[in-house]
Amino acid sequence: MIKPSLGYNAAMSTTTNPGLHLLGATREDLLAFMAKRGYKSAHAFSLFKAIHRGHLLDFTHLDSLPLTLRQHLATDFPCSPPKVLHTHTATDGTQKYLIALNDGSAIETVFIPEPSRGTLCVSSQVGCALNCDFCATGKQGFSRNLTAAEIIAQIWIATREHTITNVVFMGMGEPLLNLEHVIPAISILLDDCAYNLSKYTVTVSTAGLIPQMQQLAQQTEVSLALSLHAPNDLLRTQLMPINKKYPLLELMAVCKNYFKHPKRKILFEYILIDGVNDTDALAHELAQLLTDVPAKINLIPFNPIAHSGYQRSTDARIKVFQTILRDHGFKTFVRKTRGPLIDAACGQLKGDFIEKTKRRA
Ligand code: SAH
Repeated sequence: MIKPSLGYNAAMSTTTNPGLHLLGATREDLLAFMAKRGYKSAHAFSLFKAIHRGHLLDFTHLDSLPLTLRQHLATDFPCSPPKVLHTHTATDGTQKYLIALNDGSAIETVFIPEPSRGTLCVSSQVGCALNCDFCATGKQGFSRNLTAAEIIAQIWIATREHTITNVVFMGMGEPLLNLEHVIPAISILLDDCAYNLSKYTVTVSTAGLIPQMQQLAQQTEVSLALSLHAPNDLLRTQLMPINKKYPLLELMAVCKNYFKHPKRKILFEYILIDGVNDTDALAHELAQLLTDVPAKINLIPFNPIAHSGYQRSTDARIKVFQTILRDHGFKTFVRKTRGPLIDAACGQLKGDFIEKTKRRA
């Protein structure tokens, strides 16, 4: 088990927005903090609930806490809420947030409303090191991991305006390269005193890093999505350089036994790029690859990004690809493209939202 870094560690005093650190403290972190200072555990619950349910980061008037504790918190944790630099809502209700980080960089988070649920797509890193050929985030390179607080800040902000029923780690970055902070963030997402989500409604999406997938499976039972995008190593390596390190045969072996529960399935994401990975033959090959893997398939119409040279497959092609997979017996859905006018779709999160907004103005 990775030991979550405490939300109130020494780094606190060196940041300009220490409130963010409290946002990343798990219930256990707060219990330890209270116990060490002689406060009752009930106060840890009150504080934890106040932060995540009550949207409080200023505890001055939180009467359920003893005055000394409130003073203590005000001195040690002068909290200011995370700052939203910009937000934009598309006609379909998809809302994109640009959130400021202490180091001057920014991350993007997208809220996606659907009739029966509200999904928040969160970022786990600033940029991404994996450099997938079709992904806008990859083009900007990797800057750094987000802290647990910076991950939770995204849901803390969105829940002020929306009911969030699902969280997907499908924004900027590779969450499995930041397990140190993603794991405590998941613990806060699942906590019934905080966001009260379930292992079925939190999904971590990965490009397929084998050791980290094994580590994730040991530490949490949340849902897993795997970005596949090609059914053979030659094509997959061309699209996703990480495939060289973790080729398909090894990856599928891990996928076959990933969930202990026989009914749970991995969600395989497959972007459809015109003339690249969308032929009938590749659909059959994909079905072959996933034989004996507990799989459901999510086909994603490619969201064009600048300078990639790739185009989205036609609707007719997507339909045929889906039909082939369904005929092979796989539950296969086509992801609805959301918020296209605000570049809020998968793979389009780059953190340069302000620049784009300025250019449009
Ligand atoms: N690194 C993780 C999570 C971030 S990407 C992963 O690879 O899964 C989230 C999803 O968006 C992935 O399935 C990714 O392949 C997909 N994606 C990236 N760029 C895209 C694009 N231009 N169009 C459609 N989907 C894209």
